[in-house]
Amino acid sequence: MNFSSKLLENAVNEFGKLPGVGQKTALRLVLHLLKQTKEETFSFTNSIDQMKEHIKHCKVCFNISDLEICEICASPQRDRSIICVVEDTRDVMAIENTEQFKGLYHVLGGLISPMDGIGPADLTIESLVQRLDGADVNEVIIALSATMEGDTTIFYLYRKLKDFPIHISTIARGIAFGGELEYVDELTLGRSIMTRVPYEHKIG
Ligand SMILES: [Zn+2]
Repeated sequence: MNFSSKLLENAVNEFGKLPGVGQKTALRLVLHLLKQTKEETFSFTNSIDQMKEHIKHCKVCFNISDLEICEICASPQRDRSIICVVEDTRDVMAIENTEQFKGLYHVLGGLISPMDGIGPADLTIESLVQRLDGADVNEVIIALSATMEGDTTIFYLYRKLKDFPIHISTIARGIAFGGELEYVDELTLGRSIMTRVPYEHKIG
């Protein structure tokens, strides 16, 4: 692309770094912003600044939060005996939308992926183990996507958690095979959480 302005080019390059945004889309977005009032543009850039400056990860579940302890962990309405382990905050949002799950979460922050150089130590697995130690938890539901990385992570988690006096279950991912959790429709996801199966029964 030949730009008539270096400033325009810089902005387009920044937008083009976003996932799923090509140069053409980046240019369209930038030109749209350029047409907006100063106040509108400020509100846009300020929301990003504020997010970067103030956002936290919940100290208990590692979900993205405005507070040290997220609203879900802090809520007295939630069932503290069940923890649902997910990859990231998008999964928490998807499961919350189903309104079928009333327990707590644990956000891993990714999946084990040797190809991408992501090992167990890069995730919040140790924190989960510490969280279970001495806590009144009866069940851990592992709700990860049905991918090779998801399976590897489930197997690793199972080995880490199997000696705790808890039920370990996984959601029925067959329905969403190969799909990522966030794309499963709410009804299906809600149903898979309700009809989760003990992990042990799936081996062999
Ligand atoms: Zn939390």
